[in-house]
Amino acid sequence: MDGEPDLYIGGVWRHASDGGTRDIVNPARGKVAAVVDEATPEDARAAVAAARTAFDDGRWPGTPVTERAALLDRVADLLQRDKEELAALETVDTGKTLAESRIDIDDVTSVFRYYAKLIGAESDRVVDVGDPAVVSRVVREPIGVCVLIAPWNYPLLQMSWKVAPALAAGATMVAKPSEVTPLTTIAFVRLLVEAGVPPGVVNLVQGSGATLGAALTDNPAVDFISFTGGLATGRVIARTAAEHVTKVALELGGKNPHIVFADVTAGGDWDAAVDHVLTGVFLHSGQVCSAGTRLIVEESVADDFVAALVARAGKIRMGDGLDPASETGPLVSEQHRAKVESFVQLGISEGAQLVCGGRRPDEPALADGYFFLPTIFDRCERSMRIVQEETFGPILTVERFTTEDEAIALGNDTEYGLAAGVRTSDPARGERVVRALRHGTVWLNDFGYYTAAAEWGGFGRSGNGRELGPTGLAEYQELKHIWHNTAPTAAGWFKG
Ligand code: NAD
Repeated sequence: MDGEPDLYIGGVWRHASDGGTRDIVNPARGKVAAVVDEATPEDARAAVAAARTAFDDGRWPGTPVTERAALLDRVADLLQRDKEELAALETVDTGKTLAESRIDIDDVTSVFRYYAKLIGAESDRVVDVGDPAVVSRVVREPIGVCVLIAPWNYPLLQMSWKVAPALAAGATMVAKPSEVTPLTTIAFVRLLVEAGVPPGVVNLVQGSGATLGAALTDNPAVDFISFTGGLATGRVIARTAAEHVTKVALELGGKNPHIVFADVTAGGDWDAAVDHVLTGVFLHSGQVCSAGTRLIVEESVADDFVAALVARAGKIRMGDGLDPASETGPLVSEQHRAKVESFVQLGISEGAQLVCGGRRPDEPALADGYFFLPTIFDRCERSMRIVQEETFGPILTVERFTTEDEAIALGNDTEYGLAAGVRTSDPARGERVVRALRHGTVWLNDFGYYTAAAEWGGFGRSGNGRELGPTGLAEYQELKHIWHNTAPTAAGWFKG
């Protein structure tokens, strides 16, 4: 950034080996905000080699757990020290509002604190093998060299969900943020260095996934790939990794249902339901893997519910995320807005009824950014592509149901399975529906929340790994069974 080297390999900050750079654009203004080094495949291979050396010589896996935990706590302190700076950088890079970016930095901090505590509390499992002479233990060991690949919508947050447990576990790593939004990850690696991460333990390369992908994933020196991003990329990575039987955890897309029963009026929950459906889909202009983009609403209240949503969607204040008056920001790039616009055309051509948005805002102040209005399609059918495919933009589709079974069937009618919401005033119904939905996170009368201590991940094609919680740490560990015979005698199997 600003002429400083941005690649961190083997404990040294470097420029790209071919001197290449990339312009990073502020999506609210459509202007270059920074220029960063663009790694070459050679740089990526050097980063993996550095991580391999740092693992094999034991400098991090051999560091006592208490020291690893203390380092994680120091990182958390530094994140809070630099919170405002990091939040502003995230906003400039992604377009999200400062309020959202601050929440992201707090989340990242809590993940470091959580894993600092968890790693300190882990113990071996003693197994009774039925022989008093044998001491049998199952111990956890760091998995080795990890490649951590993150997307652009929650750049630092998604990266930290990987780096924190990897560091806690004693693994070494190469971090590759999205080429669209690398700024906070560069700043974050500087904080890791300040906190005392030894050279080679964390390495950083940024650049195009298409260019660096093979060097990072088609590489026998890598033991684990943790990937968050789109389904198509996840498939490529899984296929490539299979060649080396490298373990892969995939956190992929979602097409998340938000089911609203007519009884939400009964307990006065109507306003909260409207509010959560609105926030669930339009926060960060819909660029959220768990966005509730599919409203599935009971027929008897559907017209009123959609009318209430349309009224509020029209009032959402769009603007530069650095402006405290802005409630939501732009789409991340011109290219991404073009993709979202093509989905709107698709919805119209499929016969969905456009009742709100569907175009760019008129305000001249927003003309240079990649803004797109909150968009609602009513009268959608489950077979439509606009209902089934992840648009990753501010687009809500509306389907209607009349029975609980139909609501569940619609909620499960997706190849994905990341997250879902259910709104009902009937606790028994709520429990039935929540249990019947095949999604990794289900919110009952709430939407969008998560915590460092609870697992996050998808069913179906939303992925095959889990982040956060104890399972998020276990992804970075191998289990080893140690059978120790304290009084060995001959087995006597062969008599000769
Ligand atoms: P993407 O798949 O285009 O890119 C993700 C990352 O993969 C980037 O760093 C990119 O450079 C890299 N990449 C691309 N091709 C690669 C290759 N061949 N080999 C290795 N790396 C490669 O995704 P995106 O557009 O950045 O992010 C949006 C997607 O991420 C959405 O589908 C969203 O749902 C998903 N996402 C999922 C979660 C989750 O928790 N499940 C969270 C956030 C985002």
